[in-house]
Amino acid sequence: MGILMKIKLLFLMLMLFRITPIFATSDYQVDIDRTKQKIHVAACFKGSMPHYLINGDWQRHPDILIAPKTKPYVYLNYWGSIEILKQPPDKCVRYQVTIASESRYRRQFVNRNFSIISTHKWLWRPKTIDSSDPVIITFNVSDKDHVFTPWPPVLHGKNQFSLTSTPPEWDSRIIVGTFTQQVLPLDKKTDFEIAYLNTNPSQRQKLNQVLKVNGNNIVKTFQGFPQQPTKIIVMNVNRGRGPVPFGQILRGGSAVIWLYVNATKKSVDFINDWTITHEMTHLMMPYIASSDNWISEGLASYFQYVSRAQNGQITAVEAWRKLASMYESGKESAGDQTIRETSDRMFTYWGGAAFFMLSDIEIRLQSHGKLNLQRVFARFKACCLSYESSWRPYRFFNQLDKQLDSPVFIPMYRKFSKTKGFPNLHPYFKKLGINFDTTWKKIKAEDLTRLANNIMILD
Ligand SMILES: [Zn+2]
Repeated sequence: MGILMKIKLLFLMLMLFRITPIFATSDYQVDIDRTKQKIHVAACFKGSMPHYLINGDWQRHPDILIAPKTKPYVYLNYWGSIEILKQPPDKCVRYQVTIASESRYRRQFVNRNFSIISTHKWLWRPKTIDSSDPVIITFNVSDKDHVFTPWPPVLHGKNQFSLTSTPPEWDSRIIVGTFTQQVLPLDKKTDFEIAYLNTNPSQRQKLNQVLKVNGNNIVKTFQGFPQQPTKIIVMNVNRGRGPVPFGQILRGGSAVIWLYVNATKKSVDFINDWTITHEMTHLMMPYIASSDNWISEGLASYFQYVSRAQNGQITAVEAWRKLASMYESGKESAGDQTIRETSDRMFTYWGGAAFFMLSDIEIRLQSHGKLNLQRVFARFKACCLSYESSWRPYRFFNQLDKQLDSPVFIPMYRKFSKTKGFPNLHPYFKKLGINFDTTWKKIKAEDLTRLANNIMILD
Protein backbone atom coordinates (compact mmCIF):
# COMPACT_ATOMS: atom_id res chain seq x y z
CA MET A 1 0.00 0.00 0.00
CA GLY A 2 1.44 3.37 -1.04
CA ILE A 3 1.84 6.20 1.41
CA LEU A 4 -0.84 8.21 -0.37
CA MET A 5 -3.25 5.30 -0.10
CA LYS A 6 -2.46 4.97 3.63
CA ILE A 7 -3.16 8.66 4.19
CA LYS A 8 -6.41 8.33 2.24
CA LEU A 9 -7.45 5.33 4.33
CA LEU A 10 -6.58 7.10 7.58
CA PHE A 11 -8.56 10.12 6.46
CA LEU A 12 -11.52 7.93 5.56
CA MET A 13 -11.39 6.23 8.96
CA LEU A 14 -11.25 9.58 10.71
CA MET A 15 -14.23 10.81 8.70
CA LEU A 16 -16.20 7.69 9.52
CA PHE A 17 -15.29 7.98 13.16
CA ARG A 18 -16.32 11.60 13.22
CA ILE A 19 -19.69 11.26 11.59
CA THR A 20 -20.83 8.06 13.25
CA PRO A 21 -20.49 8.58 16.98
CA ILE A 22 -21.19 5.41 18.89
CA PHE A 23 -24.36 5.75 20.94
CA ALA A 24 -26.05 2.89 22.57
CA THR A 25 -29.61 3.67 23.61
CA SER A 26 -30.13 7.28 24.61
CA ASP A 27 -32.54 7.76 27.44
CA TYR A 28 -34.60 10.86 28.20
CA GLN A 29 -36.34 11.08 31.55
CA VAL A 30 -38.95 13.82 31.38
CA ASP A 31 -40.59 14.90 34.65
CA ILE A 32 -43.63 17.07 34.10
CA ASP A 33 -44.97 19.06 37.04
CA ARG A 34 -48.25 20.58 35.88
CA THR A 35 -48.89 22.50 39.11
CA LYS A 36 -45.56 24.27 39.03
CA GLN A 37 -45.64 24.37 35.21
CA LYS A 38 -42.13 23.01 34.95
CA ILE A 39 -40.52 20.28 32.87
CA HIS A 40 -37.27 18.72 34.07
CA VAL A 41 -35.33 16.74 31.49
CA ALA A 42 -32.39 14.43 31.98
CA ALA A 43 -31.02 13.49 28.54
CA CYS A 44 -28.58 10.64 29.09
CA PHE A 45 -26.28 9.17 26.48
CA LYS A 46 -24.49 5.84 26.52
CA GLY A 47 -21.00 6.07 25.08
CA SER A 48 -19.78 9.35 23.65
CA MET A 49 -21.99 12.42 23.90
CA PRO A 50 -23.30 14.27 20.84
CA HIS A 51 -21.57 17.62 20.28
CA TYR A 52 -24.83 19.54 20.10
CA LEU A 53 -28.44 19.23 21.12
CA ILE A 54 -30.98 21.27 19.19
CA ASN A 55 -34.70 21.96 19.54
CA GLY A 56 -35.32 22.75 15.85
CA ASP A 57 -36.66 26.23 16.53
CA TRP A 58 -33.90 28.56 15.44
CA GLN A 59 -35.76 31.83 15.81
CA ARG A 60 -36.75 31.72 19.43
CA HIS A 61 -34.82 32.38 22.56
CA PRO A 62 -35.81 29.37 24.57
CA ASP A 63 -37.10 29.44 28.07
CA ILE A 64 -34.52 27.00 29.35
CA LEU A 65 -32.31 26.66 32.38
CA ILE A 66 -29.35 24.29 32.27
CA ALA A 67 -28.63 22.56 35.57
CA PRO A 68 -25.67 24.38 37.18
CA LYS A 69 -23.89 21.11 37.93
CA THR A 70 -23.36 20.30 34.27
CA LYS A 71 -21.75 23.67 33.58
CA PRO A 72 -19.23 24.58 32.25
CA TYR A 73 -19.26 21.42 30.11
CA VAL A 74 -22.68 22.14 28.71
CA TYR A 75 -23.87 25.58 27.72
CA LEU A 76 -26.56 27.25 25.67
CA ASN A 77 -25.40 28.96 22.49
CA TYR A 78 -27.21 32.22 21.85
CA TRP A 79 -28.17 30.99 18.36
CA GLY A 80 -30.13 28.11 19.71
CA SER A 81 -28.19 24.99 20.43
CA ILE A 82 -26.88 23.32 23.54
CA GLU A 83 -23.20 22.76 23.04
CA ILE A 84 -21.57 19.90 24.87
CA LEU A 85 -17.86 20.29 25.42
CA LYS A 86 -15.54 17.38 25.85
CA GLN A 87 -16.49 15.27 28.82
CA PRO A 88 -16.43 11.62 29.85
CA PRO A 89 -18.92 9.25 28.16
CA ASP A 90 -22.18 7.98 29.71
CA LYS A 91 -23.27 11.37 30.94
CA CYS A 92 -26.52 13.29 31.16
CA VAL A 93 -27.51 16.81 30.23
CA ARG A 94 -30.03 18.18 32.70
CA TYR A 95 -32.25 21.16 32.07
CA GLN A 96 -35.54 22.71 33.06
CA VAL A 97 -38.15 24.57 31.00
CA THR A 98 -41.21 26.56 32.06
CA ILE A 99 -44.57 25.81 30.43
CA ALA A 100 -46.49 29.01 31.11
CA SER A 101 -49.66 29.51 29.08
CA GLU A 102 -48.99 31.06 25.72
CA SER A 103 -51.60 31.18 22.99
CA ARG A 104 -49.29 32.48 20.26
CA TYR A 105 -49.23 30.23 17.21
CA ARG A 106 -51.35 27.74 19.14
CA ARG A 107 -48.08 26.31 20.38
CA GLN A 108 -49.13 25.93 23.92
CA PHE A 109 -52.31 25.62 25.88
CA VAL A 110 -52.52 25.05 29.60
CA ASN A 111 -55.67 24.65 31.67
CA ARG A 112 -56.70 22.92 34.87
CA ASN A 113 -57.11 19.52 33.22
CA PHE A 114 -54.37 19.27 30.65
CA SER A 115 -51.40 20.99 29.01
CA ILE A 116 -50.66 21.02 25.28
CA ILE A 117 -46.96 21.63 24.81
CA SER A 118 -44.95 22.18 21.63
CA THR A 119 -42.06 19.73 21.28
CA HIS A 120 -39.85 22.70 20.33
CA LYS A 121 -40.33 23.98 23.84
CA TRP A 122 -38.64 21.17 25.71
CA LEU A 123 -37.11 18.52 23.46
CA TRP A 124 -33.42 19.19 22.91
CA ARG A 125 -32.16 16.29 20.81
CA PRO A 126 -29.25 15.19 18.62
CA LYS A 127 -29.69 16.49 15.06
CA THR A 128 -30.14 13.06 13.52
CA ILE A 129 -31.74 10.02 15.04
CA ASP A 130 -30.62 6.65 13.78
CA SER A 131 -33.19 3.88 14.04
CA SER A 132 -30.51 1.41 15.12
CA ASP A 133 -29.72 3.62 18.15
CA PRO A 134 -33.13 4.52 19.47
CA VAL A 135 -33.81 7.51 21.71
CA ILE A 136 -36.26 6.41 24.37
CA ILE A 137 -38.33 9.05 26.15
CA THR A 138 -39.98 8.23 29.46
CA PHE A 139 -42.52 10.66 30.90
CA ASN A 140 -42.84 10.77 34.66
CA VAL A 141 -46.20 12.28 35.48
CA SER A 142 -48.70 12.04 38.31
CA ASP A 143 -50.75 8.82 38.49
CA LYS A 144 -53.97 10.29 37.15
CA ASP A 145 -52.32 12.01 34.18
CA HIS A 146 -52.21 10.58 30.64
CA VAL A 147 -49.58 11.34 28.02
CA PHE A 148 -50.24 11.71 24.28
CA THR A 149 -47.31 12.04 21.84
CA PRO A 150 -46.73 11.69 18.09
CA TRP A 151 -44.26 8.81 18.65
CA PRO A 152 -44.85 5.06 18.78
CA PRO A 153 -44.97 3.60 22.30
CA VAL A 154 -42.20 1.28 23.48
CA LEU A 155 -44.63 -0.52 25.73
CA HIS A 156 -48.33 0.31 25.73
CA GLY A 157 -49.51 2.05 28.88
CA LYS A 158 -46.01 2.81 30.15
CA ASN A 159 -45.64 6.44 29.00
CA GLN A 160 -42.51 5.41 27.19
CA PHE A 161 -41.94 6.28 23.53
CA SER A 162 -39.31 5.85 20.85
CA LEU A 163 -38.33 9.07 19.06
CA THR A 164 -38.72 8.95 15.26
CA SER A 165 -36.29 10.42 12.76
CA THR A 166 -38.35 13.33 11.38
CA PRO A 167 -36.35 16.59 11.07
CA PRO A 168 -36.04 18.54 14.35
CA GLU A 169 -37.55 21.62 12.65
CA TRP A 170 -40.89 19.83 12.29
CA ASP A 171 -43.03 20.79 15.24
CA SER A 172 -45.41 18.56 17.15
CA ARG A 173 -47.41 18.59 20.38
CA ILE A 174 -47.53 16.46 23.46
CA ILE A 175 -50.56 16.48 25.73
CA VAL A 176 -50.31 15.75 29.43
CA GLY A 177 -53.15 15.63 31.95
CA THR A 178 -56.64 14.24 32.33
CA PHE A 179 -58.29 13.76 28.96
CA THR A 180 -59.80 10.86 27.01
CA GLN A 181 -57.75 8.63 24.74
CA GLN A 182 -59.64 6.36 22.36
CA VAL A 183 -58.65 3.84 19.73
CA LEU A 184 -61.12 3.90 16.85
CA PRO A 185 -60.69 1.10 14.29
CA LEU A 186 -61.31 2.55 10.82
CA ASP A 187 -60.78 -0.58 8.73
CA LYS A 188 -58.79 -3.81 9.03
CA LYS A 189 -55.50 -1.98 8.63
CA THR A 190 -55.98 1.40 10.25
CA ASP A 191 -56.69 2.59 13.77
CA PHE A 192 -57.28 6.19 14.70
CA GLU A 193 -55.62 6.93 18.05
CA ILE A 194 -57.55 9.92 19.29
CA ALA A 195 -56.92 12.38 22.12
CA TYR A 196 -60.25 14.02 22.98
CA LEU A 197 -59.98 17.27 24.89
CA ASN A 198 -62.92 19.09 26.55
CA THR A 199 -65.50 16.57 25.36
CA ASN A 200 -68.27 14.54 27.02
CA PRO A 201 -69.21 10.91 26.15
CA SER A 202 -72.09 11.78 23.80
CA GLN A 203 -69.94 14.32 21.95
CA ARG A 204 -67.22 11.72 21.55
CA GLN A 205 -69.72 9.24 20.18
CA LYS A 206 -70.85 11.81 17.62
CA LEU A 207 -67.28 12.82 16.74
CA ASN A 208 -66.19 9.18 16.36
CA GLN A 209 -68.90 8.76 13.72
CA VAL A 210 -67.77 11.96 11.98
CA LEU A 211 -64.14 10.81 11.93
CA LYS A 212 -65.22 7.43 10.56
CA VAL A 213 -67.23 8.98 7.71
CA ASN A 214 -64.30 11.22 6.74
CA GLY A 215 -61.73 8.44 7.19
CA ASN A 216 -63.85 6.20 4.97
CA ASN A 217 -63.86 8.89 2.27
CA ILE A 218 -60.08 8.53 2.11
CA VAL A 219 -60.21 4.71 2.31
CA LYS A 220 -62.69 4.50 -0.59
CA THR A 221 -61.19 7.24 -2.77
CA PHE A 222 -57.55 6.23 -2.35
CA GLN A 223 -57.96 2.50 -1.72
CA GLY A 224 -56.86 2.60 1.90
CA PHE A 225 -55.84 5.07 4.59
CA PRO A 226 -52.23 6.25 4.16
CA GLN A 227 -50.83 5.99 7.72
CA GLN A 228 -51.17 3.15 10.25
CA PRO A 229 -52.00 4.04 12.95
CA THR A 230 -52.95 7.72 12.64
CA LYS A 231 -53.03 9.95 15.69
CA ILE A 232 -55.67 12.65 15.92
CA ILE A 233 -56.02 15.46 18.46
CA VAL A 234 -59.61 16.68 18.76
CA MET A 235 -60.00 19.76 20.91
CA ASN A 236 -63.50 21.00 21.58
CA VAL A 237 -63.54 24.80 21.77
CA ASN A 238 -67.36 25.05 22.07
CA ARG A 239 -67.50 27.99 19.68
CA GLY A 240 -66.99 28.97 16.07
CA ARG A 241 -69.49 29.43 13.28
CA GLY A 242 -68.50 26.21 11.55
CA PRO A 243 -68.18 22.79 13.20
CA VAL A 244 -64.41 22.66 12.57
CA PRO A 245 -62.96 26.18 12.99
CA PHE A 246 -59.38 25.01 12.56
CA GLY A 247 -57.49 22.00 11.24
CA GLN A 248 -53.84 21.29 10.62
CA ILE A 249 -51.33 18.49 10.11
CA LEU A 250 -48.33 18.50 12.44
CA ARG A 251 -45.57 16.38 10.95
CA GLY A 252 -43.02 16.13 13.78
CA GLY A 253 -42.74 12.53 15.04
CA SER A 254 -45.55 11.26 12.79
CA ALA A 255 -48.25 12.98 10.74
CA VAL A 256 -50.78 13.98 13.42
CA ILE A 257 -54.16 15.48 12.52
CA TRP A 258 -55.03 18.38 14.80
CA LEU A 259 -58.65 19.55 14.84
CA TYR A 260 -60.40 22.30 16.77
CA VAL A 261 -64.10 21.48 16.80
CA ASN A 262 -67.30 23.07 18.00
CA ALA A 263 -68.84 19.94 19.53
CA THR A 264 -72.17 21.72 20.15
CA LYS A 265 -72.84 21.45 16.39
CA LYS A 266 -75.01 18.59 15.08
CA SER A 267 -73.72 15.52 13.22
CA VAL A 268 -75.26 16.81 10.00
CA ASP A 269 -73.28 20.08 10.30
CA PHE A 270 -70.07 18.07 10.59
CA ILE A 271 -70.97 15.89 7.58
CA ASN A 272 -71.72 19.03 5.54
CA ASP A 273 -68.29 20.45 6.41
CA TRP A 274 -65.25 19.78 4.23
CA THR A 275 -62.42 20.42 6.73
CA ILE A 276 -61.75 16.89 8.01
CA THR A 277 -61.65 15.29 4.54
CA HIS A 278 -59.33 18.14 3.50
CA GLU A 279 -56.93 17.49 6.41
CA MET A 280 -56.96 13.73 5.90
CA THR A 281 -56.18 14.16 2.17
CA HIS A 282 -52.97 15.96 3.20
CA LEU A 283 -51.71 12.59 4.47
CA MET A 284 -51.64 11.29 0.87
CA MET A 285 -48.51 13.39 0.34
CA PRO A 286 -45.09 13.71 1.92
CA TYR A 287 -44.09 17.15 3.21
CA ILE A 288 -43.03 19.56 0.46
CA ALA A 289 -41.22 22.80 1.43
CA SER A 290 -43.51 25.75 2.16
CA SER A 291 -42.65 27.73 -1.03
CA ASP A 292 -44.53 24.97 -2.86
CA ASN A 293 -47.34 24.46 -0.35
CA TRP A 294 -49.82 25.08 -3.21
CA ILE A 295 -49.20 21.44 -4.16
CA SER A 296 -50.38 20.04 -0.84
CA GLU A 297 -53.18 22.60 -0.39
CA GLY A 298 -54.28 22.08 -3.99
CA LEU A 299 -54.61 18.32 -3.61
CA ALA A 300 -56.53 18.62 -0.32
CA SER A 301 -58.80 21.37 -1.70
CA TYR A 302 -59.67 19.41 -4.85
CA PHE A 303 -60.53 16.22 -2.97
CA GLN A 304 -62.45 17.98 -0.18
CA TYR A 305 -65.26 18.14 -2.75
CA VAL A 306 -64.39 15.27 -5.12
CA SER A 307 -64.00 12.63 -2.40
CA ARG A 308 -67.15 13.78 -0.59
CA ALA A 309 -69.09 13.58 -3.88
CA GLN A 310 -67.61 10.16 -4.64
CA ASN A 311 -68.78 8.97 -1.22
CA GLY A 312 -72.28 10.43 -1.42
CA GLN A 313 -72.11 13.37 0.99
CA ILE A 314 -72.70 15.89 -1.80
CA THR A 315 -73.99 15.49 -5.38
CA ALA A 316 -71.85 15.84 -8.52
CA VAL A 317 -73.59 19.12 -9.35
CA GLU A 318 -72.92 20.51 -5.88
CA ALA A 319 -69.26 19.52 -6.13
CA TRP A 320 -68.83 21.19 -9.55
CA ARG A 321 -70.63 24.34 -8.40
CA LYS A 322 -68.40 24.53 -5.32
CA LEU A 323 -65.22 23.98 -7.32
CA ALA A 324 -66.23 26.54 -9.98
CA SER A 325 -67.09 29.14 -7.34
CA MET A 326 -63.77 28.62 -5.53
CA TYR A 327 -61.84 28.84 -8.82
CA GLU A 328 -63.65 32.08 -9.57
CA SER A 329 -62.61 33.56 -6.19
CA GLY A 330 -59.07 32.33 -6.82
CA LYS A 331 -59.04 33.97 -10.24
CA GLU A 332 -60.30 37.27 -8.81
CA SER A 333 -57.63 37.53 -6.13
CA ALA A 334 -54.72 35.95 -8.04
CA GLY A 335 -52.93 39.05 -9.34
CA ASP A 336 -50.11 38.62 -11.86
CA GLN A 337 -47.54 36.65 -9.88
CA THR A 338 -46.87 32.94 -10.32
CA ILE A 339 -48.38 30.44 -7.90
CA ARG A 340 -44.95 29.95 -6.30
CA GLU A 341 -44.50 33.70 -5.76
CA THR A 342 -47.97 34.60 -4.54
CA SER A 343 -48.87 35.10 -0.90
CA ASP A 344 -52.57 35.10 -1.78
CA ARG A 345 -54.28 32.23 0.01
CA MET A 346 -57.11 31.78 -2.49
CA PHE A 347 -54.66 31.58 -5.40
CA THR A 348 -52.47 29.11 -3.48
CA TYR A 349 -55.36 26.79 -2.58
CA TRP A 350 -57.55 27.01 -5.69
CA GLY A 351 -54.78 27.46 -8.24
CA GLY A 352 -53.34 24.29 -6.70
CA ALA A 353 -56.73 22.56 -6.89
CA ALA A 354 -56.97 23.60 -10.58
CA PHE A 355 -53.59 21.96 -11.20
CA PHE A 356 -54.89 18.65 -9.86
CA MET A 357 -58.21 18.96 -11.69
CA LEU A 358 -56.35 19.47 -14.99
CA SER A 359 -54.08 16.51 -14.26
CA ASP A 360 -57.12 14.36 -13.39
CA ILE A 361 -58.80 15.27 -16.71
CA GLU A 362 -55.55 14.69 -18.62
CA ILE A 363 -54.97 11.25 -17.04
CA ARG A 364 -58.56 10.15 -17.70
CA LEU A 365 -58.42 11.25 -21.36
CA GLN A 366 -54.97 9.81 -21.96
CA SER A 367 -55.91 6.40 -20.50
CA HIS A 368 -59.42 6.35 -22.05
CA GLY A 369 -60.96 6.27 -18.59
CA LYS A 370 -58.87 3.39 -17.25
CA LEU A 371 -56.87 5.55 -14.88
CA ASN A 372 -57.56 8.64 -12.79
CA LEU A 373 -55.89 10.94 -10.27
CA GLN A 374 -56.95 9.06 -7.14
CA ARG A 375 -55.70 5.76 -8.53
CA VAL A 376 -52.32 7.32 -9.31
CA PHE A 377 -52.19 8.46 -5.68
CA ALA A 378 -53.21 5.00 -4.46
CA ARG A 379 -50.25 3.57 -6.41
CA PHE A 380 -47.96 6.29 -5.09
CA LYS A 381 -49.09 5.46 -1.55
CA ALA A 382 -48.28 1.78 -2.09
CA CYS A 383 -44.81 2.32 -3.56
CA CYS A 384 -43.34 5.58 -2.36
CA LEU A 385 -45.18 7.64 0.23
CA SER A 386 -43.08 8.48 3.29
CA TYR A 387 -43.34 10.99 6.11
CA GLU A 388 -39.77 11.06 7.41
CA SER A 389 -38.26 13.84 5.33
CA SER A 390 -39.04 16.81 3.12
CA TRP A 391 -39.50 16.20 -0.64
CA ARG A 392 -38.80 18.49 -3.57
CA PRO A 393 -41.61 18.98 -6.11
CA TYR A 394 -39.58 17.31 -8.90
CA ARG A 395 -39.05 14.15 -6.87
CA PHE A 396 -42.74 14.02 -6.00
CA PHE A 397 -44.10 14.65 -9.51
CA ASN A 398 -41.51 12.31 -10.98
CA GLN A 399 -42.78 9.50 -8.74
CA LEU A 400 -46.37 10.26 -9.77
CA ASP A 401 -45.37 10.19 -13.45
CA LYS A 402 -43.78 6.77 -12.94
CA GLN A 403 -47.28 5.43 -12.24
CA LEU A 404 -48.38 6.52 -15.74
CA ASP A 405 -47.64 5.36 -19.31
CA SER A 406 -46.50 8.84 -20.34
CA PRO A 407 -45.67 11.76 -18.06
CA VAL A 408 -48.35 14.30 -17.10
CA PHE A 409 -47.15 15.91 -13.90
CA ILE A 410 -43.62 17.10 -14.67
CA PRO A 411 -44.56 18.82 -17.98
CA MET A 412 -47.58 20.42 -16.28
CA TYR A 413 -45.55 21.50 -13.25
CA ARG A 414 -42.92 23.14 -15.48
CA LYS A 415 -45.56 25.17 -17.29
CA PHE A 416 -47.78 25.80 -14.28
CA SER A 417 -45.11 27.04 -11.87
CA LYS A 418 -43.96 29.67 -14.41
CA THR A 419 -47.39 30.93 -15.48
CA LYS A 420 -48.33 34.35 -14.15
CA GLY A 421 -51.85 34.66 -12.77
CA PHE A 422 -54.63 32.09 -12.46
CA PRO A 423 -54.70 29.35 -15.12
CA ASN A 424 -57.28 29.58 -17.89
CA LEU A 425 -59.84 26.91 -17.02
CA HIS A 426 -62.39 27.72 -19.70
CA PRO A 427 -61.37 24.99 -22.22
CA TYR A 428 -61.29 22.34 -19.49
CA PHE A 429 -64.70 23.24 -18.12
CA LYS A 430 -66.02 23.01 -21.68
CA LYS A 431 -65.04 19.32 -21.66
CA LEU A 432 -67.12 18.94 -18.49
CA GLY A 433 -70.22 20.57 -20.01
CA ILE A 434 -69.86 23.70 -17.90
CA ASN A 435 -69.48 27.27 -19.10
CA PHE A 436 -66.96 28.56 -16.56
CA ASP A 437 -67.33 32.22 -17.56
CA THR A 438 -71.08 32.59 -17.42
CA THR A 439 -73.52 29.92 -16.38
CA TRP A 440 -71.76 27.68 -13.84
CA LYS A 441 -74.01 28.89 -11.00
CA LYS A 442 -77.01 27.38 -12.79
CA ILE A 443 -75.52 24.06 -13.89
CA LYS A 444 -77.90 21.12 -13.73
CA ALA A 445 -77.20 17.38 -13.62
CA GLU A 446 -78.17 16.98 -17.30
CA ASP A 447 -75.56 19.55 -18.40
CA LEU A 448 -72.66 17.48 -17.08
CA THR A 449 -70.69 15.37 -19.56
CA ARG A 450 -69.77 11.76 -18.87
CA LEU A 451 -66.29 12.93 -17.92
CA ALA A 452 -67.69 15.40 -15.36
CA ASN A 453 -69.89 12.70 -13.85
CA ASN A 454 -67.15 10.07 -13.83
CA ILE A 455 -64.86 12.31 -11.80
CA MET A 456 -67.45 12.35 -9.00
CA ILE A 457 -68.09 8.58 -9.09
CA LEU A 458 -66.01 5.79 -7.58
CA ASP A 459 -65.27 2.91 -9.93
ZN1 LIG B 1 -54.77 22.27 4.05
